[in-house]
Amino acid sequence: MPANAEWIAEAAHMIRSGALVAFPTETVYGLGADATNGEAVARVFAAKGRPTFNPLIVHVAGIEQALMIGSFSATARRLAEAFWPGPLTLVVPKLETANVSDLVSAGLPTIAIRAPDHPVARELLKEAHRPIAAPSANRSGHISATRAEHVASDLGDSATLILNGGPTAHGLESTVLSLVGARPLVLRPGAVPLDAIEQVIGEKIARANESGTHLSSPGQLRSHYAPRSKLRLNAKTWTPDEAVLAFGNVAPGTCRASINLSPSGDLIEAAANLFAALRTLDASGAGTIAVTPVPTNGIGEAINDRLERAAAPRD
Ligand code: AMP
Ligand code: MG
Repeated sequence: MPANAEWIAEAAHMIRSGALVAFPTETVYGLGADATNGEAVARVFAAKGRPTFNPLIVHVAGIEQALMIGSFSATARRLAEAFWPGPLTLVVPKLETANVSDLVSAGLPTIAIRAPDHPVARELLKEAHRPIAAPSANRSGHISATRAEHVASDLGDSATLILNGGPTAHGLESTVLSLVGARPLVLRPGAVPLDAIEQVIGEKIARANESGTHLSSPGQLRSHYAPRSKLRLNAKTWTPDEAVLAFGNVAPGTCRASINLSPSGDLIEAAANLFAALRTLDASGAGTIAVTPVPTNGIGEAINDRLERAAAPRD
C-alpha cells in the first residue's frame, strides 16, 4: 500500500490491534509489532521462521519514549541526542517498569532501542503511540529487504499491511552499540561509523571481535537469562516438590507450582508467555522445573531451542 497519511493511520491502528505491519526505515524494511503485546511479538518470530529467539530492536518515536523503557546513562543520552533519529541502536538496561513484552529482548535484562529517521516510520510510531519491535522484514537467513517488493515476496501474507515507501536509503543495518558494560561495545557495525560515535563520547569503543569472539548472536551470551532451577525437558511425570511448565492439555496435579504456556496448545500464545513463565517458576523456589513436551513445528522450534539452552548444564 502507498505510505500516505491514510494508510499510515490504518497501519498504526493495525499495530495497536496486534497485527504485523511492514514499514520502511532509513536502513531496511522492518516487520513491526506492538512491543507491549507478547502475542504480536511472537507472530514476528513465527513469520521470520527464526529457529531461535534473537532479541529484537525496539523502535521509538524519540528520546522521551525511550526513557520509559530503558535506563539511559549520561553517555547513552548524549549518543541518543547526537544520532537520533538515525541508524544507531543503543543497548541499555531495561527498566523494571518498562511496558514491553519479555519476548522482545528474549529474556535478557537489556533492551535495544533506536529512533528511526524515515518519515514513514516516524509517522507510524507517532500515531501508534507505542514502541514497535521490528527485525528486518525478511525470512531468517535471507538478505534484508530494501524494497517493499522484497518484503512481499519473502514474507507474503505474514504482514497484514506493507507500507511501500520506495527503496530504503542506506540498505545497511543500524550500528548496534551496547552501553551496559564498563566500556561502550559495538555489537554490530552498521550505518553509523564508529569514529563518529567515538567523537561524541570522547572515548574508544571496544569491538566485540577484539578477542576473536563473535557477539552477533546474543542468544549464545552467558548473560542470557537462565533460570537458577534445573530444567527437566519432555517430562511426563513429576514429584510434588517440582514446578511444572506445561503446554496443552496437561493436568499438573500435585506440584510446587505450575504454569501452562497455552492450555489450548497454541504455540504463539506459548511463545508470548515463555520468559515470564520461566521467571515465575524460578522464583517459586523449586529446585527443578519439569517441562512437558512442546511441539517442534513453527515457532515451537524456537521455544524448544530456548528451553534446551535453559536446561543445558552451567558452570
Ligand atoms: P535485526 O533483527 O536484523 O534488526 O537485528 C537486531 C540486532 O540487534 C541483532 O544483531 C541483535 O542481536 C541485536 N540486539 C537486539 N537486542 C539486543 C540486546 N538486548 N542485547 C544485545 N543485542 C541486541
Ligand atoms: Mg536481520
